[in-house]
Amino acid sequence: MKTFDIVIVGGGHAGVEAAHIAAQFDLKVAIITMPGIGLGSAPCNPSVGGVGKGQVVRELDALGGLMGKLADYAGIQFRTLNDSKGFAVQSTRVQIDKERYSEKAEEVITAIPNIEVIREKVLEIQDSAGSFFIQSESSTYKAAKVIMTVGTFLNGKLHTGADQSVGGRIGCESSPGLQNLFATIKTRPYRFKTGTPPRLDKSTIDYSKLEEQPSDSSVRNFHCLHSPTDRFSAQVSCYLARTNASTMEIIRSNKEKSPMFNGQIKGIGARYCPSIEDKAFRYPDKNVHHVFIEPEGLKLDTVYPSGISSSLPADVQKHYVQSMEGLEKAEIKVYGYAVEYDVIDTTDLKLTLEHSQIPNLYFAGQVNGTSGYEEAAGQGFIAGANAALAFLQMEPLILSRHESYIGVMIEDLTSNTRDEPYRLFTARSENRLFIREDNSLVRIYPYRSQFLLNKEIDQYQRAFMSAYNDLMEFCDGTMISETSPLMTEFSGIGELQRLTRRMSVSEVLRQAWLNPIDVLKRILDFNGLVISDDLIRTVAISKKYDGYIKRSESQYEKLKKMDGMRLNWETLVNSNNISFECKQRIARIKPETFGQLKLIEGIRPATLAVIAAKAL
Ligand SMILES: Cc1cc2nc3c(=O)[nH]c(=O)nc-3n(C[C@H](O)[C@H](O)[C@H](O)COP(=O)(O)OP(=O)(O)OC[C@H]3O[C@@H](n4cnc5c(N)ncnc54)[C@H](O)[C@@H]3O)c2cc1C
Repeated sequence: MKTFDIVIVGGGHAGVEAAHIAAQFDLKVAIITMPGIGLGSAPCNPSVGGVGKGQVVRELDALGGLMGKLADYAGIQFRTLNDSKGFAVQSTRVQIDKERYSEKAEEVITAIPNIEVIREKVLEIQDSAGSFFIQSESSTYKAAKVIMTVGTFLNGKLHTGADQSVGGRIGCESSPGLQNLFATIKTRPYRFKTGTPPRLDKSTIDYSKLEEQPSDSSVRNFHCLHSPTDRFSAQVSCYLARTNASTMEIIRSNKEKSPMFNGQIKGIGARYCPSIEDKAFRYPDKNVHHVFIEPEGLKLDTVYPSGISSSLPADVQKHYVQSMEGLEKAEIKVYGYAVEYDVIDTTDLKLTLEHSQIPNLYFAGQVNGTSGYEEAAGQGFIAGANAALAFLQMEPLILSRHESYIGVMIEDLTSNTRDEPYRLFTARSENRLFIREDNSLVRIYPYRSQFLLNKEIDQYQRAFMSAYNDLMEFCDGTMISETSPLMTEFSGIGELQRLTRRMSVSEVLRQAWLNPIDVLKRILDFNGLVISDDLIRTVAISKKYDGYIKRSESQYEKLKKMDGMRLNWETLVNSNNISFECKQRIARIKPETFGQLKLIEGIRPATLAVIAAKAL
């Protein structure tokens, strides 16, 4: 019987990250995953990053994770989302060649000598005398620790119209349910559901009728050791199509054929990834919805129409797709479908993602009720690192929610039973001015250092942090006189002299009308100092937000003391600056105190901050 220190069941985004970090500790690791699916494969959107998620990819990268590196290699379009908004909510999104992404994942993982990839389906796992015995279709394996990253496969069931089949995703078998895999585990009493759009033949689209969205060459790579704007793949455009009254009418008139609305699907779907059916019935007066036509890969002949995921019957899908301008002749290569699957109750997990009743067993990824590759990868890393650290009897890795989106996600998951798929976005954090993409390395460095590893990335990070501290000191300690030509320059051409006193560089960077990155570059240039763009960016934005961050920290401290404050929930429901989702939840629970409000699942920290700020 083959024996491993850690066995990871599942080779998706969570499994790959878990194995990659566990192997860095020189442990003997196996990924046991179903045959026929590449490692790190992307069954839905061909992209990595996005709002809140780009931050996770950079956090992972700073932790020594893999996703950023793979996304850079496979990136065929780079964009910054929210680039007209503040730096805090800007996020990198990379369109990936999904074939290349998975091939690179295979290449990296299989080249690591202490990881064995076993392509078998796991049928049962027994916990006996401090070890796990993992029974696959053909063998039994023994492990000290097991990490379950089985995605959407537990009792998976697929739906396209009335057609139903067993499977974890199209073309794949499903996994036995948790109770079959483990004798002692309880699942939630309900199932989740996700869906994917039809894939279109890219040669049948009239691109001249669509709006082109080219790649942005100035967007930085995710991986800190990659040269910031070098590209590993050819860059291509995405295109914007739109639904119209006819599209939505076709969908609305087929409501009884929709598994989501005729009672066939019972699982709860993600609020933030609505299907086109959801949009049709949730917004009955809205007919124009954006549909981004995204390439799936340079060699693949399909495109992904983002925004129209659907489980309607095949003929209805074809009809509504062809009702859109530019898609009149579009042929569907693979029809959209929905998948229902079991998820576990993550309140049974610790912050390390270890199961609280079954020691040495960890869960990560979509099986924990999350949605998205980045969320899965983030959890995979936490589970993989903690399994390895526990094996080596080292301190666990617990990222604070105040310092990372991964920390926000893990705390949200483990402290509250979820009633719908969980997805990260910036409003989930009460500290989003601090947990930005640009400073991920600074935030995460203390956590990576705790591993006591000395890989290339550790050496890079040590050098970066030393240069960062020097530059922060330079900003605080270097004064610029009001008579300096720089001050005239920064006051603005044709404007009155606005900088009329001697100031530190840090103070200058905080001036509202100035772009802190350009200003810091200019000051360094003026002083004959040559410093990397990445470092300038991190320091300049950190200095810009300094005051806000201190204020938000003190607000957070006050929030913690406000639990007994009485509230009028009806006032909140009628308030302008609270999201529709939060109002729905407040109206359902009718909280009487701030403490009760805080406990309501789905109430965003940003909402709590707004209410607290009014009360203070
Ligand atoms: C149809 C569909 C639509 C989706 N839509 C979206 C979306 O709109 N937005 C979004 O963000 N995310 C979407 N996702 C989710 C996204 O794919 C996942 O979040 C992500 O892939 C989860 O990663 P994971 O590692 O947890 O699991 P997965 O990537 O699903 O990987 C699980 C792995 O475990 C293996 N496995 C399962 N059971 C066993 C077993 N018993 N034995 C051996 N191996 C096993 C499987 O073979 C698979 O390789 C969708 C997924 C699907 C299938």
